[in-house]
Amino acid sequence: AEENNEAERMPPPSTAKGRRKSVAPQELNKGSKRLSCFVKAPDLQAKRGKFGEALQPNLKFHDMIRDFRETLEITPITTSSDIEPHRITVCVRKRPLNKQEVIKKEIDVVSVPGRGAVLVHEPKQKVDLTKYLDNQVFHFDYSFNEATTNDLVYKFTAKPLVRSIFEGGMATCFAYGQTGSGKTHTMGGDFTGKQQNSAKGIYALAAQDVFTLLDQGRYANLDLSAHVSFFEIYNGKVYDLLNKKAKLRVLEDDRQVNLTAFPFLLSDCLSRTSGQTSANANSSRSHAILQIVLRRNDRAATLHGKFSLVDLAGNERGTDVSSNDRSTLVETAEINRSLLALKECIRSLGMNSDHIPFRQCTLTKVLRDSFIGEKSRTCMIAMVSPGMASCEYTMNTLRYESVEDPTEPISLVGE
Ligand code: ADP
Ligand code: MG
Repeated sequence: AEENNEAERMPPPSTAKGRRKSVAPQELNKGSKRLSCFVKAPDLQAKRGKFGEALQPNLKFHDMIRDFRETLEITPITTSSDIEPHRITVCVRKRPLNKQEVIKKEIDVVSVPGRGAVLVHEPKQKVDLTKYLDNQVFHFDYSFNEATTNDLVYKFTAKPLVRSIFEGGMATCFAYGQTGSGKTHTMGGDFTGKQQNSAKGIYALAAQDVFTLLDQGRYANLDLSAHVSFFEIYNGKVYDLLNKKAKLRVLEDDRQVNLTAFPFLLSDCLSRTSGQTSANANSSRSHAILQIVLRRNDRAATLHGKFSLVDLAGNERGTDVSSNDRSTLVETAEINRSLLALKECIRSLGMNSDHIPFRQCTLTKVLRDSFIGEKSRTCMIAMVSPGMASCEYTMNTLRYESVEDPTEPISLVGE
């Protein structure tokens, strides 16, 4: 059947596939993507005295958010939820508050009612010092709350793409978000103590499924072999993470010169990739890309399909301008430029445009063939931190993800 690309793009919230039903109180269903409603707690005066609010100025916000949450109907994603096939899937994952945040009594300002919705309760104050919440709702294909496991995230994001590379397609899965929001946790596996459990990351789960499909069922007689490479893009340059970070040249071709691509051995691959990015001091400033490439076992080793799993650089802008460090500024500019270029390419893909602006930066050059063709599939997972301190970054992340109107001018990342 012919695919309707318009339908596959993330729809405007007012027509959001019926997912919007009773997501939140009355006001939340009125059809605007961004909704502000002023929630005034009636008993503020009483609480101030009782809890010594001067010592805990955020307690009031905490209580207001708690009261708001009590009105929400929560329908979290479960293993039995429907998986809708999309050409471009956009979703959000919220991580839990970490130990330090709990100790600091950081307030959780993000709610995930489910059905693709995410709410940010932005604490605000009027001139007369009245505190209020600016509650903003964003809609995605899926929204994952802080209790969601990597397994479940995988099931709705990268897993549906695995088959497409056997069908001769290109698939890409991105982890996007602020540093510390859970990109590496999601892609590379969870950390228990200092060790990363790489078997529980999307890299490994995808690799495992590729491995299974290679010698099973109808794909076994395609005579394919899989090759894995792992590299990093830092300041526009490509480094081989499987070969002591040897510098690579980018070609507008389906391979990078000298890139280590070893025949697919799952355990080998995982032991080599494990901890690579997290241990790297620059990891938040570089894009890490794990590619699983399927080639035919013919003389030319013809490219059949490719899965790129990308742990993107942190999208926070370099706020520390006081450091006046030129190299940091250059780094930040490069990251912003590449994330913007990526967004444009994904949008072109969504519009089925002939012109994919991939030449703008190394990241999109490297992923060039992922944006071309009927069979290309993309999944973007936006990670958000729950804390009030991250509120601005969280909003930036959600806005980057939620541009629904392709004709609307896109804003600069981090601007
Ligand atoms: P990023 O790669 O985006 O900078 P990380 O993946 O390194 O962020 O996550 C930062 C910290 O938060 C890590 O200690 C990680 O274990 C923890 N973390 C992230 N996501 C989750 C989650 N969903 N559940 C529990 N802990 C998480
Ligand atoms: Mg990371």
